[in-house]
Amino acid sequence: MRPVTGENGVVRGRFAPSPTGSLHLGNLRTALVAWLSARSVGGEFIVRMEDLDRVTSSPVHESDQLSSLRSIGLDWDGAVVRQSERFAMYHQAIARLPSERVYECYCTRREIREAAEAPHGVDPDGRYPGTCRNLTAGDRRALRDAGRRPALRLRSDDGEESFDDRCRGPQHGGVDDVVLQRNDGVPAYNLAVVVDDAAQGVTQVVRGDDLLASTPGQIRLHQLLDLPIPEYAHIPLALAPDGSRLAKRHGAVTLADLGERGMSPGDVCARLAESLGIETGGRPVMAGDLLERFDLARVLPGPWLLTPGEL
Ligand code: GLU
Repeated sequence: MRPVTGENGVVRGRFAPSPTGSLHLGNLRTALVAWLSARSVGGEFIVRMEDLDRVTSSPVHESDQLSSLRSIGLDWDGAVVRQSERFAMYHQAIARLPSERVYECYCTRREIREAAEAPHGVDPDGRYPGTCRNLTAGDRRALRDAGRRPALRLRSDDGEESFDDRCRGPQHGGVDDVVLQRNDGVPAYNLAVVVDDAAQGVTQVVRGDDLLASTPGQIRLHQLLDLPIPEYAHIPLALAPDGSRLAKRHGAVTLADLGERGMSPGDVCARLAESLGIETGGRPVMAGDLLERFDLARVLPGPWLLTPGEL
């Protein structure tokens, strides 16, 4: 399949981590695939820091993540963009949405959880149960008078979207009433990612498959904002042998941890390459060494099972 290109005829990929900790092997593998996917066809590649949440994000993690990317040979075009510096753009985008598509939601997380757990309330996809979808002006006033502040949600009208994922194949899923703006006024991820991917001319979104279920909502936002829709490739997460997502508690999972055990970034990159079906004969490699042998079609759609300590 020919990749989608931008107006200049060039593929533009991206890696968009949240700077909330060190990148682990699964994140590095996704970043490597995103970079190879773009660079192997002569495309451009950008890095964006998704630091909307100022409590969990930190510049220390940002520089640590960027240095990990560089260590395995990844590079990017232009300066790294930070979402925390682009709030005005996100607010303008929310204001551009048709007003009947946006509603105020006063629910707390707990209320949403409880509504979902109530008999008949269970939604297998964990979608918003719709509590605030049809509040009257009086309901809203009463909630505000009680000291509540509203988040803003997309009115999805239970719509559905289909798309062809370049790793996972044809996909079809429901559009959730995604949060557009949190109740403290901070723009939400689903909105910001759409605005940025379009503003930055991204044609190819390669990311972890934990975001597969969010994609129909993002496609809907692209449509409502009249923005071009990128192509998607959702890369399986790295899982520990117990089936849980790879995390710090599993032991040596970052470049720094592995370095302490005598593995160079080149050794780690070789291991990532093997997991993508590229033979390295166990020799250390950098991302650039893999360009000619990379094939997105060979990235297996199943989880990458990893036993930390047995790399
Ligand atoms: N910032 C998100 C994360 O670190 C990724 C978002 C995306 O790639 O669309 O999980």
